[in-house]
Amino acid sequence: MTKIRTRFAPSPTGYMHIGNLRTALYTYLVAKKDPEGVYILRIEDTDQGRLVEGATDIIYQTLEQCGLKHDEGPDVGGPVGPYIQSQRYSSGLYMDHAKDLICRGGAHYCFCDEAHINASRAIQEARGESFKYDDPCKNLTVEECEARIAKGEKFVIRQTIPTSGTTSFDDEVFGRITVENETLDESILIKSDGFPTYNFANVIDDHLMGITDVVRGMEYLSSTPKYNLIYDAYGWEIPRYIHCPPVMKDEHNKLSKRNGDASFQDLVAKGYLPEAILNYIALLGWSPETNQEIFTLDELIENFNVKRIGKDGAIFDIVKLTSINSLWLRGMDLDTYYDLIKPYIDEAVKGDFDKKQIAKIVQPRANVLNDIPEMLDFFDVFPTFENDLFINKKMKTDEAIALKSLLAAREVLAACDDYSEEHLHEVLLELPKQMGVKNGQVLFPVRVAISGKKFTPGGAIEIASILGKEETLARLDKSIAQLQAAL
Ligand code: GLU
Repeated sequence: MTKIRTRFAPSPTGYMHIGNLRTALYTYLVAKKDPEGVYILRIEDTDQGRLVEGATDIIYQTLEQCGLKHDEGPDVGGPVGPYIQSQRYSSGLYMDHAKDLICRGGAHYCFCDEAHINASRAIQEARGESFKYDDPCKNLTVEECEARIAKGEKFVIRQTIPTSGTTSFDDEVFGRITVENETLDESILIKSDGFPTYNFANVIDDHLMGITDVVRGMEYLSSTPKYNLIYDAYGWEIPRYIHCPPVMKDEHNKLSKRNGDASFQDLVAKGYLPEAILNYIALLGWSPETNQEIFTLDELIENFNVKRIGKDGAIFDIVKLTSINSLWLRGMDLDTYYDLIKPYIDEAVKGDFDKKQIAKIVQPRANVLNDIPEMLDFFDVFPTFENDLFINKKMKTDEAIALKSLLAAREVLAACDDYSEEHLHEVLLELPKQMGVKNGQVLFPVRVAISGKKFTPGGAIEIASILGKEETLARLDKSIAQLQAAL
């Protein structure tokens, strides 16, 4: 069996949107399901007008951050380069192939005025007809065309489509597709500036690069019969096709940067892990056989199956992504987690506290990395707060109970010097027993009294342990005084 070769073929036209990244991922997975499979990166930059500076760097950076390592590509080389279309163009290979296609009857020179063709397109489309242009240039011989070109006449090369018959192919996602040839338009293959269009370059490059499986967005599904006619004209083998439904913002709209939807970079900047983003977008359109939800890239390779890609567009759900992100964060071992979030802790906490201990209390609570600084703001600065924070139905506390508990807690906390969590645990859990109250009636007021906040990562014991004796007592005193003043 031939080994699988796939390519991710982005156009460097800006940010990496989520749909693009999902195509990159599926393309990678299809290749890597084969232990010898090869994943190729090809940069499609023949549409020079749409190029955006820096976009290629974003592509490299994103693939690297996601661990989608390509085996062949512009930066790593490979046997079928160059891997950037504009560099392939300079070797003249598209023009040579186009001339060959003309000889095979699959294309023709066209000297018609583009404005004239567009006008008749507009008229036909307004009538609700599919566009058909009966190109008079098709009656010219190759010699006549070459003579006109030699005289400096401007031309394009268009595909020649049979006027009758049908073209069929099997798509792995959409099944058998059959179209009447007369509905296919004779699109431009080589533009007047000599550059190939996507419609041509994708076929030539996929063939020359030995691509066995083409994974791409379903917007190319309807043009694929045209591409297959080109393969047939050359007598080339047609690849397997996997067209993926779009990633949607809602039922009717595709996700797109133009509408202000988040790109991969935006999500990372908001504190989502590349691994979690990748995990989530794998599930946008593909459903695993089991109800497993958290997948590493290796697990995705193992479980992925193109047969389980759905035909319908999948709606991007930030809530679901957030939940997957939180599961990724919670599943890390503490050392890795600490290394990851240290910059976020450093941003919020300048005081001399044990930051690893802080990481430990944050880990079960932060869903997104950017939530972290705000969660920790009470360490450096003890916030002012109202006494009604002490009133909590569930904890069965009010201001009077809180004051009683705080006075008792202050006494035991002042008497102890070991502020390790274990020791504080012993000491503070002894108190409710002695006082004949519930644990929450002591621990809740203490937590509020030393954090000044309704919600905190960690409870009274962990926070007191991190703050240390001096700071804990100082805050308790302040809170006690504030309660006494009010009662
Ligand atoms: N350059 C095309 C795009 O970015 C690639 C389509 C394909 O994978 O064939 O949409």
